[in-house]
Amino acid sequence: MASEYDIIIIGGGAAGFTAGMYAARDRCRTLLLERFSAGGQVLNCPHIENYPGFPDGVAGYSLGPLLQQQAMNFGMEMKLSEVYNLRVDGGVKVLQTDDGEVRARALIIATGSSFSKLNIPGEEEFVGKGVSHCASCDGAFFMDQPVVVIGGGDAALDEGLHLTEYVSSVTVVHRREDLSACRLLRERAHANEKLTFRFNTVVTAIEGNSEVQRVQLEDVKTGERSALDVTGVFIFIGLTPNTQFLNGLVPLNDKGQIVTDLSMRTSVPGIFAAGDVRAESSRQLVSAAGDGATAALAAVQYLRM
Ligand SMILES: Cc1cc2nc3c(=O)[nH]c(=O)nc-3n(C[C@H](O)[C@H](O)[C@H](O)COP(=O)(O)OP(=O)(O)OC[C@H]3O[C@@H](n4cnc5c(N)ncnc54)[C@H](O)[C@@H]3O)c2cc1C
Repeated sequence: MASEYDIIIIGGGAAGFTAGMYAARDRCRTLLLERFSAGGQVLNCPHIENYPGFPDGVAGYSLGPLLQQQAMNFGMEMKLSEVYNLRVDGGVKVLQTDDGEVRARALIIATGSSFSKLNIPGEEEFVGKGVSHCASCDGAFFMDQPVVVIGGGDAALDEGLHLTEYVSSVTVVHRREDLSACRLLRERAHANEKLTFRFNTVVTAIEGNSEVQRVQLEDVKTGERSALDVTGVFIFIGLTPNTQFLNGLVPLNDKGQIVTDLSMRTSVPGIFAAGDVRAESSRQLVSAAGDGATAALAAVQYLRM
């Protein structure tokens, strides 16, 4: 017989750990399952300056373990394990993981999202050989070399600015006329001499031998093509929700995000969702943490019914 918990949380990011802290603090037998390492997307954030309580900012790699520790202090258990499948058996949620089955009366899905792909030649081939999604992890490998950042939102500019601490130049390639990043980041990016922009432009291929040597560009308005010599390609074109393992059990919107009410309840009794994975999330750390707290309180209430 598989172990049975009061509450299982899938995902060890800000939403999952906050949910775990609230659930365990309420004396629920709580398990959190995380497939990679504690922290989730915060591990990609070199310097977070908009999370309350840290007036000088905080590095993501510091915040992740703090979130984990705080939840575990209240007795939350954690396992490094991926969830592959989910079914409901007489109200009990049964999760198939790479360590076997685990069961719980309530489930909180806090699986966040993963970086979207361009699906262009070279993107897969050069992962780890010049293609990256993380400036703080990989920036130092490109010391004094030219790199390209693809995207025009907050993550693209934030990471592009961080890269200027290492590299000789950053070309930001964006398919639209304007950036969608917040004003503060746009101002910082325009003021940084190492950063230049190619608007209305897409990357059509990443090329090299054993490592990246150049990207092929295309102007979406004129169709003009050109090549840009770079050794690094950092891709930040959006996020895809991690909901594939649900296999249709929980309703999603057209973007693949989980639909919830304001208490984080899905339409399946006893299943809740929190953080970036849910529809209408503002996709910020503080809102992910807030969702986690709300979901855990609703799950505890569900268990008491
Ligand atoms: C480059 C970058 C910079 C950012 N900067 C900021 C910033 O400065 N300020 C800010 O507020 N926000 C920032 N954000 C956004 C913020 O990081 C996210 O909104 C927040 O981390 C989302 O938290 P989450 O817990 O919902 O999901 P995530 O952090 O994505 O965590 C989800 C976790 O679930 C795990 N998981 C997924 N599927 C499974 C499965 N099947 N089984 C087990 N585990 C699974 C994943 O491995 C992951 O660890 C940034 C994001 C990026 C990418």
